[in-house]
Amino acid sequence: MAVEGEVTEPDYLAYLNKEFGEDHDFFIHTLSVGNGLKPLPCVEKVLEYESEVRDHEIRYPEDDARKPQLWAVFDRDQHHGIPEAMKRARKSDVRIAFSHPSFDLWLLLHFQDFSGAQNGSSAIVHEKLRSQPAFRRFAATNAAEDKAIKDDRVEALKERHGAARSRARKMADDCSASSCSTATGHAQHCDPLNRDPSTDVWKLLAELGIL
Ligand SMILES: [Zn+2]
Repeated sequence: MAVEGEVTEPDYLAYLNKEFGEDHDFFIHTLSVGNGLKPLPCVEKVLEYESEVRDHEIRYPEDDARKPQLWAVFDRDQHHGIPEAMKRARKSDVRIAFSHPSFDLWLLLHFQDFSGAQNGSSAIVHEKLRSQPAFRRFAATNAAEDKAIKDDRVEALKERHGAARSRARKMADDCSASSCSTATGHAQHCDPLNRDPSTDVWKLLAELGIL
């Protein structure tokens, strides 16, 4: 799995491994690079491991949940090249956990509902997240410790994944495309760039059997 963020996403995935990996029989190999990865390089990074994963994959029957998967985790932020990244991912069977405006919205949904277009800015998401005691310094500076997901933050997120998924799914009701809803999710023709705000991170947790 290649991730865009340098601290938050790798920490969060390390938490999933530690908390659920053994029970649910998975291990996430996280790839991230120093300055963060933009969407297309993020997909390309995970594709460096494509042949390795495909070689491994053939040992499993088609419907075996343990079959290795390639994932790219990236955000809307102010990035360009998102449609290209999604097209590249689709072509190569790389799954995407896309968040609009950012992964941090997924964290916020563990505590509250959220709505309203953010136009790629995470300022309001961060402000609301900081009202949680464990997250009171979250993204307050660029320091790694402020974006870390450890200790009391992990404790605060635990047991709330299901609620976060419900809130994430409910957000499809507010989508500007009329055919999107909680029940059906975003319609295929609904441009991910217009899914403001939204997050698909829960799909990863569902795939891993956590949800
Ligand atoms: Zn939609």
